Amino acid sequence: RTAISWFRRDLRLTDNPALLHALEHAERVVPAFVYSPDEDRSWAPGAASRWWLHHSLVALDAGLRKIGSQLIVQKGDSLSALRKCIRETGATLVCWNKLYEPAALERDAEIAAALADDGVSVEQSNGTLLFEPGTVLNQQNLPYRVFTPFWRTVEKLLPTLPPPSKAPRKLPPVPRGLARIDIDDLELLPKIRWDEGLAQSWTPGEIGATQQLKQFDKHVASYPTGRDRPDRAETSRLSPHLHFGEIGPRQIVAMLRHPAPGAAHAKGADSYLRQIGWREFAHHLLFHFPHTTDAPLDKRFAKQKWRRSTSDLRAWQRGATGIPLVDAGMRELWRTGWMHNRIRMITASVLTKNLQIHWLQGARWFWETLVDADLANNTLGWQWVAGCGADAAPYYRIFNPVLQAKRFDPLRGYIRHWVPELARLPDRWIHQPWAAPEAVLQKAGVELDKTYPRPVLDLGESRKRALQVYSQLR
Ligand code: FAD
Repeated sequence: RTAISWFRRDLRLTDNPALLHALEHAERVVPAFVYSPDEDRSWAPGAASRWWLHHSLVALDAGLRKIGSQLIVQKGDSLSALRKCIRETGATLVCWNKLYEPAALERDAEIAAALADDGVSVEQSNGTLLFEPGTVLNQQNLPYRVFTPFWRTVEKLLPTLPPPSKAPRKLPPVPRGLARIDIDDLELLPKIRWDEGLAQSWTPGEIGATQQLKQFDKHVASYPTGRDRPDRAETSRLSPHLHFGEIGPRQIVAMLRHPAPGAAHAKGADSYLRQIGWREFAHHLLFHFPHTTDAPLDKRFAKQKWRRSTSDLRAWQRGATGIPLVDAGMRELWRTGWMHNRIRMITASVLTKNLQIHWLQGARWFWETLVDADLANNTLGWQWVAGCGADAAPYYRIFNPVLQAKRFDPLRGYIRHWVPELARLPDRWIHQPWAAPEAVLQKAGVELDKTYPRPVLDLGESRKRALQVYSQLR
C-alpha cells in the first residue's frame, strides 16, 4: 500500500502524527508539499513568511533525504496536485495534520470529501495544537472568551497528553519519475534581496527549532522576569518555528517539564507554558469565531470610525514616527522579521489608539513583514491591543511609549541599538528627544527633522482624542 503524507505547516519529522500514521499503515510513503497561496484567500503568506517557507522546505527535504526519502513539491490547487500524485503512485491513503484557520478548514473538508468520492482514505491528525478546538469548552459547553479560565482547564489536561513520538530513522524511497518542481521554482525568495537581516537572525527548519528550544531550556528560569525586556534575548524566539510546525507544542511541554526541574526552572517553565497557552487560546478562538480575521470579535467596535493617513501609516511602517521606542520596534521588525512582544503591543497601541488607524492596516503590515505571521496569533494580538477582541486590554489602556521605554528598556540599549542616530543622547532624553534641551541635542549630534524626525503626533493630545472616541463608542 502507498500513502501520501501531505505536509502543510508541520514541516518536521519528529512528533508528526500524520507522517507516523502513513508509516504505520503503508509500506511506501510519499512526502508531498503543495504551494497553494490562493487557498489562503486574502491571507496568503506575506514576503517574510515566504522567505521562511523556502528555507524550511529546503531543510525538510534535506532531512527526508538523510533517511532515504525526499519531498515531492508541487504548486497550484491542492486537490489537483494530490490527485496527480495519487494517479502516479497508486496511493490509497492521504494523511495530513489539521490546520484550524477558516480557509484551511473549508479547503480541507472539500478535499477530504473529493478524495473519499475517489475511493481514497483520508486520515487527519492533530499535530499543531495541544488540544483540538472544540474539545476545550466551559461549563455551558461554550468556547472560552477569557484566557485565564481557558488556561486553567488546559493545564489540568496537560498530563493526559501523549508523549511526543520520535522521528522515523528510515523511510522507503519515493517512486522514480514523479512529477515535481524544484523548491527554487516556487519563487518564494524576494527578487530584490532585502532578506540579509532575516538570514543573519534565523535558522529555519527542524534542526534550527530544536537547537533554539534546547538553548532556551538552559535559561528558562529567568523567563518570568526577563520576558518583558526587549533589550535582552530572554524569550524563546520559537514563534516562526511553531508557526511552520518545525516543532510541535507537545515537544515543548515534554522538554520543559523535566522530572526534577528545580523550583526556579519549574516556575519559568510554567510561565512559558502559559504563553504557549495564549497560542492555543488564539487558535481556539479563531476556530469558533472565524469572522474575526477581518472584523472585531466585540461587535460594539464594528462601527468605530478610523482615521486614514497614508503618511502617518508610512511613518509607522518605516520606523520614522519620531517616537524612539516605536521606531526601534518597527526597524527591528523590518530588519529581522520579528519584534519583541512588548514592543508589538506598544507599536500596535500607538497605531490604533494614538494615530486612530485601523488595526487591520497594522495587522496587514505585520502579516507582510513577520517571519512568524500567524493568522490566529496576529488577529488575537491586534484585537487585544485595539480593545475589540477576546479578553482585550480595556480600551482606555493606552500604552505610553515614553513610560514604557523607562520601564522596559531601562538601560535604553534597545533604542540605542535600533535607532543609532540617537545613541549619543543621554538616558534621560533618548526616549523623548523632542523634549531635550537644544544644547543636549547639539552635543549628541541630533538635529530634529534632519537627523531624526519630530514626532508625528502629540502623545497627550492623541490619548485624549482616543478616549473621546471610546466614550462615543460605548
Ligand atoms: P515567547 O515569549 O518565547 O513565547 C513562546 C511562544 O508562545 C511563542 O513563540 C508563541 O507561539 C506563543 N505566544 C507568546 N505570546 C503570545 C501571544 N500574546 N499570543 C499568542 N501566542 C503567543 N505571535 C505570532 O506567533 N504570530 C503573530 O503574527 C503575532 N502577531 C502579534 C501581533 C500583536 C499586535 C501582538 C501584541 C502580538 C503578536 N504575537 C504574534 C504574539 C507574540 O508577540 C509573539 O508570539 C512572540 O513575541 C514571539 O516571540 P517568542 O517566540 O520569543 O515568544
